[in-house]
Amino acid sequence: MRKPSLLMVCCALTLTLVGCNTSNQNEPEEAKSKPAETEQHSEAPADAPKDTEDEVVEETPVSEAEPSAEDKPTTDAPVVDEPEAEEAPVVESPTEEEPTQALEQNGTANVKLDTLILVNKQIALPAGYQPPDLVTANIDFVDTASGERRMLRQEAAQAIETLMAGAKAAGIDLKGTSAFRSYDYQVQLFNNYVARDGKEQAMKYSAPPGHSEHQTGLAIDVSSASVGYQLTQSLAQTQEGKWLADNAHTYGFIVRYQRAYEAETGYMFEPWHLRYIGVEHATAVHKANVPLESYLEQLMD
Ligand SMILES: [Zn+2]
Repeated sequence: MRKPSLLMVCCALTLTLVGCNTSNQNEPEEAKSKPAETEQHSEAPADAPKDTEDEVVEETPVSEAEPSAEDKPTTDAPVVDEPEAEEAPVVESPTEEEPTQALEQNGTANVKLDTLILVNKQIALPAGYQPPDLVTANIDFVDTASGERRMLRQEAAQAIETLMAGAKAAGIDLKGTSAFRSYDYQVQLFNNYVARDGKEQAMKYSAPPGHSEHQTGLAIDVSSASVGYQLTQSLAQTQEGKWLADNAHTYGFIVRYQRAYEAETGYMFEPWHLRYIGVEHATAVHKANVPLESYLEQLMD
């Protein structure tokens, strides 16, 4: 992540030029799970080259839970209460000097960052990553979102519930359209697209498994009746979209993919995609008006 590749920048520029074909980054992903639905975004726009995920992740076998010595003494059993330590099979793996603050390790997201975890086109989640505390968010969802797609990590679920309550109180009508997506789901989805359009094409509009922020359980797409609950950039012009842009941070969410960040994130403007990072950080990101990548790099320095 340190240095956005030239390739990426080029692609992002290309995408920007291609312009207004909005609703897709999430869309194609939405598509397959809603068979007979009418929403326009259910067709994977093969011609929507916004998402250039050019940098495929080589799935580095991730030693996912490597105990990091720093702040979280996961492995160092506190000596306090150990009854008969005798036969206790102490399989203490040696603590590595892996910086807990690192945003990534060999292209893999540092899950220890918890709600600040960074996942993007360059940084993938560990293969098979499953968020620890998924719960169903008790908010209004569009009908096409069901099951785990209504789930978020606990903290994020509570936050979106509060956000939705705040929105409602302000006369703002919003619904969730898609929250959690599992690794397996993304695999299946992506493979379908590859089978249909070929990998190169599929990479342009769908996130390869492990690269979707939705897999963290910290991201949710929302939309409003005023745009037919579509994932479209025109949401930004509605009062609901404006309300989100102005207020989401006070509930701990950022509008992750801003127009001004396209070159850096590689994603088109997505006024509907909210990422939970907690009120303090979301407020800081909002004020600084920078991509999450830049914010975290600075924070972890
Ligand atoms: Zn999204």
